Amino acid sequence: MARKNIAAGNWKMNTTVSEGVDLYNSLAEHNVPSDVTVIVGAPFIHLTSLIAAKKDNIKVAAQNCHYENSGAYTGETSPSMLADLGVDYVILGHSERREYFNEGNALLAKKLNAALANGLPVIFCCGESLDIRKAGTQNEYVTKQLEEGLFHLDVSQLQDVVIAYEPIWAIGTGETASPEQAQDMHAHIRSILVDKYGSNAAEEMSILYGGSVKPTNAKEIFGQKDVDGGLVGGASLKADMFKEIIDSF
Ligand code: PEP
Repeated sequence: MARKNIAAGNWKMNTTVSEGVDLYNSLAEHNVPSDVTVIVGAPFIHLTSLIAAKKDNIKVAAQNCHYENSGAYTGETSPSMLADLGVDYVILGHSERREYFNEGNALLAKKLNAALANGLPVIFCCGESLDIRKAGTQNEYVTKQLEEGLFHLDVSQLQDVVIAYEPIWAIGTGETASPEQAQDMHAHIRSILVDKYGSNAAEEMSILYGGSVKPTNAKEIFGQKDVDGGLVGGASLKADMFKEIIDSF
């Protein structure tokens, strides 16, 4: 897909189904600018109701999927189930999944392949911890995450991927990377994409920033040259705040 402005919400494990549908309907009333793609990442149990309520201006994402389409994997949800339901995207590799559910780069590569094989576009997350940031090795760390998780794809598959850079130290902490820190990392990611896939593919990749994006900082962050939008946690749970973020491009 060509480079897009994207405001993606990640509801995490928040809202009941009815609260989620209300939130979705409130967002769907918004006059979304034609050059902005809006996505909400909802818990699995919400997805059927959200797809039933779906409007063109707000796309729906799952927050995870398995790497098999079916089988004896109690409690899991497969990419073919999501695709069949009409889900638009799946978020993979969120730092909370990496940390609390032991999802490493090799597993994420399998999930990514399975999602794409089912025609399900992926928001693929990467980002470093505070220790790594303090050590100054964040570029190497993110490079390794992408090399091991993403760079086995060929250039045509890459078109169905959006990258989300989310420094873990800025997620849910109220601490935001400065616009310069975000731009530096996004430029780094785009440069390794150039090396691996060439400049056309790199220019077409949408790279989102995530980490305490709010209405008060979205405009400055999204205004950076290599930042194409945001993956937003807390502020995506409040319709008014998320609408302001949608209007921040
Ligand atoms: C996230 O959930 O991916 C996130 C960035 O959360 P928050 O915006 O709350 O920091």
